[in-house]
Amino acid sequence: MPAGALIGFYLLLGLLPLGLAWAQGLEPRTALDELATGLGLVALAMILLEFLLLGRFRSVTARVGSDVVMRSHQLLARAALVFALLHPFLYISPRAQAPVWDVTRQTVAETSWHALWPGIAAWLLLGGLVGMAIGRDATGLRYQHWRLLHGLAALVVAGFGVLHALRAGRYSAEPFLAWVWLGLLTVAVAALLYVYLIAPLLRLRRPFRITDIRHEADRTWVLALTPDFDGTLPYRAGQFAWLNVGHSAFSLNENPFSICSAPAAGGDVQFLIKELGDFTGTLDRLRLGTRAWLEAPHGHLTLDGREKATGIALIAGGVGLAPIIGILRQLRATGDTRPTTLIYGNRHAGQIAFAKDLKALERDHGTKVIHVLSEPPADWTGETGYVTPDLLRREFGTPDQRDWLYVLCGPPVMLRVVEDSLIALGIPPRNILSEQFVYE
Ligand SMILES: Cc1cc2nc3c(=O)[nH]c(=O)nc-3n(C[C@H](O)[C@H](O)[C@H](O)COP(=O)(O)OP(=O)(O)OC[C@H]3O[C@@H](n4cnc5c(N)ncnc54)[C@H](O)[C@@H]3O)c2cc1C
Repeated sequence: MPAGALIGFYLLLGLLPLGLAWAQGLEPRTALDELATGLGLVALAMILLEFLLLGRFRSVTARVGSDVVMRSHQLLARAALVFALLHPFLYISPRAQAPVWDVTRQTVAETSWHALWPGIAAWLLLGGLVGMAIGRDATGLRYQHWRLLHGLAALVVAGFGVLHALRAGRYSAEPFLAWVWLGLLTVAVAALLYVYLIAPLLRLRRPFRITDIRHEADRTWVLALTPDFDGTLPYRAGQFAWLNVGHSAFSLNENPFSICSAPAAGGDVQFLIKELGDFTGTLDRLRLGTRAWLEAPHGHLTLDGREKATGIALIAGGVGLAPIIGILRQLRATGDTRPTTLIYGNRHAGQIAFAKDLKALERDHGTKVIHVLSEPPADWTGETGYVTPDLLRREFGTPDQRDWLYVLCGPPVMLRVVEDSLIALGIPPRNILSEQFVYE
């Protein structure tokens, strides 16, 4: 399913309860009451659909990219919060008396405590949930603990929200819409069960073990895993995996890392990892033979379906080289003859990873490698500063390069500058693939 169809499907599901409510043709109430109900219906549908945007479903991440999935998750959560916050306030103050003609009291907002309390609980919790996600760093929680808490709290919000809709909802009392709510809640529960139970169960059949761990550049390590099962990981160059080292397959201790090896090179899977915090700061203490699990492959940073691109430009910042070198290695291993240019930015020379491999790619594959250092040594003859629009124009400014594919991975600031500059050069956005290493 293409990305557009996926977005259309999401919109359809999100608006389904509203459409079903409208189709009931009940006597309309005041515009504000109807708006309040409509916002409540859409907010609840969005909250339930958030569970499909957990970033763990390959069919979704492979099409639009995991960072787009995560950004959508955050934006939709904020929109759902605004809708849900407005929902109770838009109802005109509860009217004790129904109009004389309304013998069934269908135009009166439901005010019984039995119907309202789940809504109030969901409303309060939702605010806390989004606030805690925005200020995650301030909570001081480890990422893994925060993630579990976030998922469980979201499930409680969803459950209370559905209960409130079923008890208080004027339209949700209709059996078909009630079943839709229960169906969406089931999908949400199933999504969590898949991530925390079914996927780990499937992983049990595919254990890996550490076969190499070595220092590669300043605070940067290479970690290699070998399958301990008959077979290989079915990934494509440039994709990433959730890596769990030394814990049970069900552990929450897993982090996303791009695979820097090429599938054509065999079954071993290699990662390039920068020391940063809780897990990455312990790489030097990992022992060979340690059990590891991979939830993979994920990500859209691949050359799949890009056969028509006449050349490949790769632009990496720091450890963003990981998926980029995986792609270059695969192009070389498969004898791809299209021209390749790599722009690789770092702060200082000690941060350059895979220097020998890059030389070999220049020699054997004809890849043009351009290093850019913002703090170069005195004898540096290469590019200095940052990856600038001017450098990009020099390297990719000819009209025929508009048909190249541009693969970007690095810090968010760099990606923004590079994407804007490429678009200013006339490169169509569909020819630009980018991924940032932020997932929150
Ligand atoms: C798609 C993707 C690919 C990545 N590829 C690479 C790579 O090839 N090489 C590399 O060095 N880094 C990569 N990263 C970044 C890497 O995942 C984090 O640096 C790493 O998870 C930090 O873990 P930590 O426990 O050492 O740090 P912590 O101090 O625990 O966390 C620091 C920050 O890292 C992020 N983080 C921590 N744990 C997780 C987690 N389980 N899931 C998501 N984010 C988390 C959070 O933003 C957190 O604030 C990638 C990230 C993403 C999203």
